[in-house]
Amino acid sequence: MSAIHVRGLTVRYRGACAPAVDGMDLTVERGEVFGLLGPSGAGKSTVHRVLTRRIRRFGGTVDVLGAPVGRGRDRDFFERIGVAFELPARLPALTAREDLSAFAALHRGPTEDPGELLELLDLAEAADRSTAGFSKGMLVRLNLARALVNRPELLLADEPTGGLDPVRADRVREVLRDRARQGATVFVTTHDMRTAESVCDRIALVVDGRVRAVDTPRRLRLAHRSPGVVVEFRRNGRLERRELPLDGLAEPLGIPGARVETVHSREATLDDVFARVTGRRMGREP
Ligand code: ADP
Repeated sequence: MSAIHVRGLTVRYRGACAPAVDGMDLTVERGEVFGLLGPSGAGKSTVHRVLTRRIRRFGGTVDVLGAPVGRGRDRDFFERIGVAFELPARLPALTAREDLSAFAALHRGPTEDPGELLELLDLAEAADRSTAGFSKGMLVRLNLARALVNRPELLLADEPTGGLDPVRADRVREVLRDRARQGATVFVTTHDMRTAESVCDRIALVVDGRVRAVDTPRRLRLAHRSPGVVVEFRRNGRLERRELPLDGLAEPLGIPGARVETVHSREATLDDVFARVTGRRMGREP
């Protein structure tokens, strides 16, 4: 049985001329990290709202963890899922630790230790501070900690790396992958290519409320690549650039008979340069 099974999902907001989600089909298998990738306004958050029962009026059928989401107020549902919102609410009267403990207390089943979760998300130092002074990035990570506190079998995260610096975004990506490794299903909506690429087993490309393609990031890239490499080289002091076909590269690379699928050069990223020059990663919160 799939974790999420969506057929013909259509959502139209009151007063809108076009549907926000327009006949969408999705199947997410248990244990996979599945990403909905698309630009702003594509309908990703609307799908997230349907899957988390915040929108009840929709067309089509939507099953989550084996049951239709449209009906009833099944408390067990919220025991089994974890929800990370795009725009997290803040409870300024509480410290981060109190906030997480309050969320943990809402659940009947086993919960994570708040201190350990805060540590995992790089918030240990801020654990006993009021969340009133938290930056957007800190709130996004606290929000993910809230979603993980009940050890959900299905995590639904809307833009989990939104507003994070590169190091914190990487940490969140690792946490998401770890959850899947531990057996959870992870459903992510994002407009961040890097999150889609490095976290997701499969992604659906969404535009205007419709799925245009679904596959692994690698297969999508290979299917739509321009089959060549661009080489930049210096000759007689001048920088030149040439496009070479991938076919025929195997021999000079010393792997005759192979079919070269991709070639990557390993120049440093700006992030690497920053770390080497300054001795620090770009991970400091203001
Ligand atoms: P995404 O998450 O991909 O940015 P959304 O699901 O938020 O996209 O939005 C999809 C479309 O629905 C957009 O055109 C947006 O303007 C519209 N929309 C989103 N929320 C509402 C709402 N509460 N009322 C009316 N229209 C909305």
